[in-house]
Amino acid sequence: MLFGAHVSAAGGISKAIDRIEAIGGNAVQVFTQSPRMWKSTQHTPEELERFRSRRREARVRHVTCHALYLVNLASRDAEIRSKSFEALRATMEVARGIDADAVVFHVGSHLGYGFDEAVKVVAPPLRELLGLTTDGLWLCLENAAGAGGTIGRSVAELAALCDALDGHARLGICLDSCHWWASGVDVSDAEALDQALEDLDSRLGLERLRVLHVNDAKTPLGSNRDRHDVVPRGLLGNGLATFLGHPAFRDLPALLETWPEDGLSSADIDLLRRLHRRGRRRKRG
Ligand SMILES: [Zn+2]
Ligand SMILES: [Zn+2]
Repeated sequence: MLFGAHVSAAGGISKAIDRIEAIGGNAVQVFTQSPRMWKSTQHTPEELERFRSRRREARVRHVTCHALYLVNLASRDAEIRSKSFEALRATMEVARGIDADAVVFHVGSHLGYGFDEAVKVVAPPLRELLGLTTDGLWLCLENAAGAGGTIGRSVAELAALCDALDGHARLGICLDSCHWWASGVDVSDAEALDQALEDLDSRLGLERLRVLHVNDAKTPLGSNRDRHDVVPRGLLGNGLATFLGHPAFRDLPALLETWPEDGLSSADIDLLRRLHRRGRRRKRG
């Protein structure tokens, strides 16, 4: 397993590598532009080159680009849909420029008009975006907590999307521990997790799993509410060891997205590593 976190790209995207190196991570997630604005950021070729060379020096083995939060490919509003598509395309382009391994994004929400209809709306733009993937760069759907018609709230929904895209070879999945818990999967329970992953394997294939977001949860199991907490202060707590120690996740990057008030430090990455070890032992025992 690789360990890392989402870090700021302020001052130039290559600074993300400096930041993850400083806290001892070997995997990193960044925004390629401000996540709350449509306007894309222009990165200079020098900056992209610095990212790639710093990554080699720092031995960072996984890079994920997280798309902006405004994306909603299922919106009824054509302008929002086209802005969403353009933003994702820009993210894919930067991701290619920095040799990222994955672009992770939230498909969006149908806000009530229904999942089956939404699949028809989002499939064509997703197909186009998948055309921008490469052997090294996957496009990954993130599982949703399930609030307000969010798409991807269950393995069944993720699988339906995948089927609508003819099971594209570089369509990946990013699993967020907090979202899975909120959508009703007790990721801190070994049996429940086994079962959920068996389901995922049979419907999607474990090889589609590319990225893990490791967040604790402030809201209860099945609440469908997405409120991250700092690991391990939330309702999942040390139960996240079970999640992190699962053999299906062995080769994946585990990325923190929520951190203490005083900022992320090497202690947070060390904690991830410890929870992972504890989970591995529990599994064997
Ligand atoms: Zn996440
Ligand atoms: Zn979330």
